[in-house]
Amino acid sequence: RIQPAERMKTLPEQFFAALVGKANARAATGRDVINLGQGNPDLPTPQPIVDKLKQAADNPLYHKYPPFRGFPFLKEAVARRYKEDYGVELDPATEVAILFGGKTGLVEISQCLLNPGDVCLVPDPGYPDYWSGVALAGAEMAFMPLLEANGFLPDYGSISEEALKRAKLMFLNYPNNPTSAVASREFYEETVRFAKRHGIAVASDFAYGAIGFDGKRPVSFLETPGAKEAGIEFYTLSKTYNMAGWRVGFALGNPQIVELLNLIQDHYYCSLFGGIQEAAAEALTGPQHSVAELVATYERRRDALFGALEGIGWKAAKPAGSFFCWLPVPKGHTSMSFADLLLEQADVVVAPGNGFGENGEGFVRLGLLASEERLREAAERIGRLKLFE
Ligand code: PLP
Repeated sequence: RIQPAERMKTLPEQFFAALVGKANARAATGRDVINLGQGNPDLPTPQPIVDKLKQAADNPLYHKYPPFRGFPFLKEAVARRYKEDYGVELDPATEVAILFGGKTGLVEISQCLLNPGDVCLVPDPGYPDYWSGVALAGAEMAFMPLLEANGFLPDYGSISEEALKRAKLMFLNYPNNPTSAVASREFYEETVRFAKRHGIAVASDFAYGAIGFDGKRPVSFLETPGAKEAGIEFYTLSKTYNMAGWRVGFALGNPQIVELLNLIQDHYYCSLFGGIQEAAAEALTGPQHSVAELVATYERRRDALFGALEGIGWKAAKPAGSFFCWLPVPKGHTSMSFADLLLEQADVVVAPGNGFGENGEGFVRLGLLASEERLREAAERIGRLKLFE
């Protein structure tokens, strides 16, 4: 028998794999399932980006190993986008790492910065991939509760002295998955002061950075004075350009962390296929109207869903950003019992909040990842269960 290494036993189960399994099993019985559980964008990648990849596939230069750490043109493209969108200056040579999706960097940063015995501050509820890297590093997590009463922002004043003494890294994620909260400039200023005072590196996960509603563009952590000394930002094309399957992400900012991530990636990968890098540069430097259209689509979906939810008596705050809705479960239910009920009696898949941490209990997450018509239908089906009267 194969004996797995001890560290594999510390890895948490992949929560979404189980969720997808349940939804697929239900659909396989022939039911018309509306899947709002996973964060997988349903819209296609804009055609000019796809066309660029098709042309680039014929370029023999790209059939060889790409340069370690990627082509400079892609690093320059992302630096230009940050300058245009956020007024942030990045040196493409030293302040940009190309990643195999944001996810790889989110796991690897813990291996780069944490020793056994160190502590990582992790938002609760939060994106479960943060936990995996900490587990692989043999380090410990201290959860920062994200409570509705505090706008789903962490309260730095409530972190224990014991955790602060050993904390080396902190994850933040705004616009937030799963709560959909958005952070302010003031919050990031407080974050930089807090992180510098305690010697904690900040990893700002900006996966939903482009998706802000009601005319408000979310703020990048890197816009904050001193942010580059305090940490990095993870940026990805997955959501902004509907390119989740293309696996293009970046770490931006602090040159020391960028170098460490590049070093670890030198060993795991040999950068992305050159054609994908060229298409990614097209996404970042080409016309940006598809991004505005994408945000408008999610906003129309949000309003359609919330109109229908109001009709059935399910009350919650509308999302300010991201494409998730964070909704309280009715009395007498847990997140899991409610999610199971919706699957079994309404054929609607939602993500139970407890999968994102202890403070996610009492909520479910719905993705705005179906047409307005299907979202209204999901609300109608849930309404027929008469749970909110
Ligand atoms: N961060 C958050 C908060 C996410 O929700 C996701 C994907 O769902 C990612 C990161 C991963 O993005 P990528 O596709 O770039 O790996």
